[in-house]
Amino acid sequence: MAQTCTADVLIVGAGPTGSYLGWKLAQAGCDVLLLEALPLEKVGAHIEVIHLDQVRFDEFAIPHPLPPERLHLVPANRVWSIDGSEHFEVRYPFYVANMPAFVQRLHGYVRQAGGRIIDHARVEDAIIDNGFCCGVRGTCAGEPFEARARITVDASGTAGAVRTRLPDGFGVENCPLPPEQTFFCALELRDDIPAGFPTDNNSFLGAPGFWNKSYGDGAILGIIAPGSADNARNALTQWRETTYGHPGRLVARRVGCSPYRRAPSSYVGDGFAGVGDCVYQNKAFSGEGITSGFTACSIAQEVILAALEQGDVSRKGLWEYNVRYLRGQGAKFAGVMAFLFPVNGLPRQEVDYLYRHKIIFCQEDYEYLNLHYELNLPPARWEAICRQLRAGVQEGAFSSNSLQLMDTLYGLSRRLKAHYLAYPDTPEGLPAWSTVTHSLWGY
Ligand SMILES: Cc1cc2nc3c(=O)[nH]c(=O)nc-3n(C[C@H](O)[C@H](O)[C@H](O)COP(=O)(O)OP(=O)(O)OC[C@H]3O[C@@H](n4cnc5c(N)ncnc54)[C@H](O)[C@@H]3O)c2cc1C
Repeated sequence: MAQTCTADVLIVGAGPTGSYLGWKLAQAGCDVLLLEALPLEKVGAHIEVIHLDQVRFDEFAIPHPLPPERLHLVPANRVWSIDGSEHFEVRYPFYVANMPAFVQRLHGYVRQAGGRIIDHARVEDAIIDNGFCCGVRGTCAGEPFEARARITVDASGTAGAVRTRLPDGFGVENCPLPPEQTFFCALELRDDIPAGFPTDNNSFLGAPGFWNKSYGDGAILGIIAPGSADNARNALTQWRETTYGHPGRLVARRVGCSPYRRAPSSYVGDGFAGVGDCVYQNKAFSGEGITSGFTACSIAQEVILAALEQGDVSRKGLWEYNVRYLRGQGAKFAGVMAFLFPVNGLPRQEVDYLYRHKIIFCQEDYEYLNLHYELNLPPARWEAICRQLRAGVQEGAFSSNSLQLMDTLYGLSRRLKAHYLAYPDTPEGLPAWSTVTHSLWGY
């Protein structure tokens, strides 16, 4: 006989988003159970050192981190020109933090608020009764178990432990994260860095890597690459060796992955909701997903509480989560994803041209992007940028192909944002909306 536990809300995954949502629901009096496959002290250990926007702690009512969880408060990030001769500063303070310590603090808040967490609990299937997701099955410390709830939330990250087990026709995309839409991030933690190497936090236009602060005076070097974890590790080694040789002493290597895919058309089904990396809520300009996942959790928490109170945990009863998220952060991310990533991939001399002319790759645009999660490109400014780029084309400093590509991407990004702002009020409007979504993205 499988062991059975029950709750009002079951959350699969006690990473940052599951833990934050569990805490906020428990705080509001909800009976919450979190299931986590790993031992709790291991959650986040595969990444270890993370960045968290300082401004979001007040926004999401989370006490700010203190040492030893907080390694540094970094007031600004430097973005270097392609030839490395100059930089601008992005004045957007963030914490460098120890991820396991941060997540364990959230676990503490869950428990203080009356929520329960079971670790070593690997979810292997969704329980579907009469078309509703009513819980999950799996193994806990090697023994089979079932957990049942009125609402099941998938917060299991890129695994999508519940989402990918939902039946076809359930109303939530159930395909695993495609490899071609997965970014791998490899990190090296280094210590005893000699003088003359970068300090503070640095990214490099036209180069794939970054050099940031880690423990004490140590550094964390990282790279984001498509394909596989090995690709990312190799790309990091190659970039680091070519640019810096072997600075200091290698302390540890870390690797993980993040989704890079448009939002699913619905985050909710009957008795089900998804949050975080599981449903691709990462920042469309960096792949970071912790605080952007909290945006979704804040909405999901309110909608879940209302659905439980009204006794309607159907897709319709949970629909408002889709509407509020996808018309807000989702619309912004759609616009940024369609535009910024390909522009970042322009030939190096053209990225350099944009940098020298303070177009997108400049302090003002980066600060706006970090704070507001979108670029500040109203049509009048875009017209002025195009005029400047046309002058560049005439001088032979910018290619007409790139200008045309940027203009096309700009148009697409505005159409996408407008489309997400018109996300349907009810599930009945979804099929027509989704048809347009697929044609705009091309998948
Ligand atoms: C190398 C790297 C560096 C990063 N740096 C940053 C950063 O600096 N700042 C930032 O904001 N973001 C960063 N990110 C992204 C960030 O880690 C994710 O966006 C974030 O962790 C997503 O949180 P989540 O709770 O949705 O998923 P996860 O953190 O992936 O948590 C999911 C949890 O579910 C558990 N789980 C999975 N499958 C099952 C199952 N079958 N049964 C039970 N439990 C299961 C997992 O063990 C895990 O604990 C980084 C990512 C990588 C790979």
